[in-house]
Amino acid sequence: MTAHMPLQARRRFATAEIIAVGSELLTPFRSDTNSLFLTARLNELGIRVRHKTIVGDDGPDLAAAVQAALGRVDLVVTSGGLGPTEDDLTRETVAELLGLKLVEQSFIVESLEARFAATGRTMPCNNRRQALVPSGAVLLDNPRGTAPGLWLDIGDQVLVLLPGPPRELEPMFEGLSRDRLAERVSQERLYRRVLRVAGLGESHVEEKVAPIYSRWFDQDPAVDTTVLASPGLVELHLSTRATPSAATEALDGLTQELADLLGDKLVSTDGRSLSEVVGELLRQNDLRVAVGESCTGGLVTAGLVDVPGSSLYVEAGVVAYSNEQKQSLLGVVPEILQTYGAVSEEVALAMAEGVRCLTGAELGVGVTGVAGPSGGGEAKPVGTVCLGVVGPGAAEVAKTVCLPGDRGMVRQQSTQTALNLLRLALLGRVD
Ligand code: ATP
Ligand code: MG
Repeated sequence: MTAHMPLQARRRFATAEIIAVGSELLTPFRSDTNSLFLTARLNELGIRVRHKTIVGDDGPDLAAAVQAALGRVDLVVTSGGLGPTEDDLTRETVAELLGLKLVEQSFIVESLEARFAATGRTMPCNNRRQALVPSGAVLLDNPRGTAPGLWLDIGDQVLVLLPGPPRELEPMFEGLSRDRLAERVSQERLYRRVLRVAGLGESHVEEKVAPIYSRWFDQDPAVDTTVLASPGLVELHLSTRATPSAATEALDGLTQELADLLGDKLVSTDGRSLSEVVGELLRQNDLRVAVGESCTGGLVTAGLVDVPGSSLYVEAGVVAYSNEQKQSLLGVVPEILQTYGAVSEEVALAMAEGVRCLTGAELGVGVTGVAGPSGGGEAKPVGTVCLGVVGPGAAEVAKTVCLPGDRGMVRQQSTQTALNLLRLALLGRVD
């Protein structure tokens, strides 16, 4: 039996699979949150989750899922189905699959009876099922519920059966992480780094960076890169499983190569948001900003003040939606509006200058655009957005972009584009 093998001979866990059991999890009404908790904790131990499965309260389906999982990972963790009711099948199904005898443990029966007696109840017969233990299993204490968890060594793999209720599963797993699991992990841990990129679409970023990051797939340690897009911003998630020093070296190496390639399109390499980066630049330069926005309706200001401490550098945000308010609130002269139209770089700059004068901030940002779905024309279709940054001093920069998507998407992308233009202006890198 592996339970008695010396420590160094035991397989170190690198991969895991989670199987969430419960028919309610296959309905629209309940979601499987246990696997999110378990994935976070397993990752902290350096264990990669390779698969997650949800199965209903169905013996053959569960048996098939457990069997498949044991065919591909070091550690399999199930949640749910350890209770006393007819639909709780995990214990019996696993015992049958592995050919293990179920033996009733009298001390569990006694403790279950004591739990019921403590609240003046007698134990229903059904609960005796929770005292059945597959031979060779290690019991995991469940101070918050009736069903103990079970740890089963199968060769040099391990199958852990945990109860479904999160308040029972979580402390049980925390306990395991401290002892039984801690003994079976290696020096290697999972490390992640998030790079943020602005001013390039997802496929452009992918096309540019793929030749670089794909070379790191089969290095030692390997670094995986995932490209994730949100409106107006692209994230590169780098991850590796290694010792701390090897991980730092690999992630630094790839980050540097990507930074060289992306230049000022790279917003941050430590997960900081665009607003945080802009805030830091404003603080470093001892500058304050004010925003005059139209189609974004306050989103640019909201983005800036999302960052704690932004009162140090945000002076004001003014939403001037109608042409009349662009004139009366921000002092945009009617001739500019008439000559160039409300969606124009001239008006964006006039709004930026207007809000700067109004508030006394060193920098002004102006945003005006066609968010849609109506209001677009041939020259300025839906998604046309004009942005301007004025200051410090006489410096000014304007930009027009044509953004895809629905109204919400256009407004979100406009916001990121405005923040990015402000970032570039602060870096002195605008063409
Ligand atoms: P019990 O003794 O409570 O019956 P059990 O181990 O049999 O425990 P289940 O019957 O499968 O667990 O689930 C009990 C409750 O726990 C579910 O109604 C649900 O609220 C919660 N639960 C189960 N699985 C999950 C999951 N994967 N994520 C979040 N909650 C879950
Ligand atoms: Mg149950």
